[in-house]
Amino acid sequence: MSGQLEVLNKKLKQAIDTRKVLEDARKQQVDTLTHFAAKLSLSCKGMDIELDNRLAKFRSALNKGVDFENLAPLITEILSLLKNQEAQQLSHQRELHNSVLTAGKLLQKTKGLPDDTRRSLRNLLDHQLNEIQSTNDFIPILNRLVSIYHQALNVKLSLGTASTSTTHPKLAKELLTLANDLVFEEEAADSVKAIKNKISETDSVEELLSAAIEIIRIIATNISDERQSAQSFLVSLNQTLEELHHSIVATSKHSESMSTEFEKLNKRIENKIVNLTKQTQDATSISSLKALVDNELKSLSSDLIAKERLEQEDRQALIKNFHDINARVGSLETKLSKYKKRLHDQRFKSLLDGLTKLPNRAAFDERFNHEFHLFSVQESDFTLVVIDVDHFKSINDRYGHSAGDKTLQVIAKALQMSIRKSDFIARYGGEEFVLLMPGMSVEHAAVPLEKLRKAVKAIPFKFKNKSVQITVSVGATQFKKGDTPLIAFDRADDALYKAKNTGRDKLCINP
Ligand code: GH3
Ligand code: MG
Ligand code: MG
Repeated sequence: MSGQLEVLNKKLKQAIDTRKVLEDARKQQVDTLTHFAAKLSLSCKGMDIELDNRLAKFRSALNKGVDFENLAPLITEILSLLKNQEAQQLSHQRELHNSVLTAGKLLQKTKGLPDDTRRSLRNLLDHQLNEIQSTNDFIPILNRLVSIYHQALNVKLSLGTASTSTTHPKLAKELLTLANDLVFEEEAADSVKAIKNKISETDSVEELLSAAIEIIRIIATNISDERQSAQSFLVSLNQTLEELHHSIVATSKHSESMSTEFEKLNKRIENKIVNLTKQTQDATSISSLKALVDNELKSLSSDLIAKERLEQEDRQALIKNFHDINARVGSLETKLSKYKKRLHDQRFKSLLDGLTKLPNRAAFDERFNHEFHLFSVQESDFTLVVIDVDHFKSINDRYGHSAGDKTLQVIAKALQMSIRKSDFIARYGGEEFVLLMPGMSVEHAAVPLEKLRKAVKAIPFKFKNKSVQITVSVGATQFKKGDTPLIAFDRADDALYKAKNTGRDKLCINP
């Protein structure tokens, strides 16, 4: 009899081991899913502050291993924010569409437009405009373009039909600057280059108008491509998150009902063993004991077999579930990395200043707002710096514009070399640069900023065989409670002007 109890014991132990293997496998699958979900959520960062907050919460909940049931409401919120994101994009598109349409229609009403321009305009309004469904990157560029376009139109309107020979150098320059900010690949790049050449050869308002229209056309084509890839990605992301959500809910419901069943079975087995022990003690003869043990053990074994089967079913259901979701997740991951690369290339280009290769003003604005938001949450030290080259106009005047351009490139490089990895520097415009120093109080910033000022001063410039020293003036301030980005920026600007008015080549701090 003790032999049979031993067998029973062994079976129980086996059952416990099987359960453990099952639990380990389950834990590993949940870990994989959690890891993926965290990664996926990181990839959406930067679209929207609200969304960022939720996703951060979501990741931190995943890290803490919060129950899937508790994650479900968070996922629902994220899904709805993602939907908002799409809606917002649509509304931007509409605004843009209307503004271009109004400008275009106004232009159509004017007399004296050359046939070519009129034809491109009609084409733009009838066909290409419908393809403008913007991604955010292009909105500021398009808006600027529309404003230039308006100006051209005003000139034209004020001069009536005799305008064919009108010139407008300021406008030509502005349009050229705009074209310089547009960075495209392949065909579009060639077209933009051709337009730039054309603009630099003419100040004629007619030509400028036709160049502006051409640029709108190129942007429209590019936006349409970009938009398609962005939207298809958002749709897949939505779908997969929704599937993930369902699968998580289904899995947790499934394991809830399983564990009730397991509990019932365990209870039954336990009762049987207690019963068996008691009856063994009460048995009066070997034969009654033998019969008793035979019966009870048979029923116990069948319970154990049932338990094993239950566990196997549970495992198979889980594996199937995870295989399905893994396959979908895999295909999304491929899409995600492709899309991210595209997005990165695109953003990287349109946020870079063509001359110095530093981030441009649009990039700065984006980063500045982001850092300001972080500051309003964390209130850690943050220093904002404006840097302006001294008497730069005289470099242009004495040595020519292209020498001025090269000088700016060299200064930009020197500035870039003398900042920390965590700092952010951008060309704000002309000969002006801005520097963001996260985690740095303005008192502590004084030392590295003096170093930066001296680094520029030490550059051995040589023009027409003559050594020339170039200096910068620097204004710095620190974010304060109650600031807005504008207030902080004005304070840094005030500091810069103080530096300019008190002799230049110095750092002024506006605490
Ligand atoms: P200050 O010390 O007061 O700053 O004098 P400044 O001459 O530097 O200032 P001002 O604002 O009068 O002139 C800035 C000049 O910078 C005017 C413009 O011709 C020149 N500049 C701006 N952007 C560029 C550029 O991209 N290339 C070149 N070569 N010159 C530029
Ligand atoms: Mg200057
Ligand atoms: Mg300046």
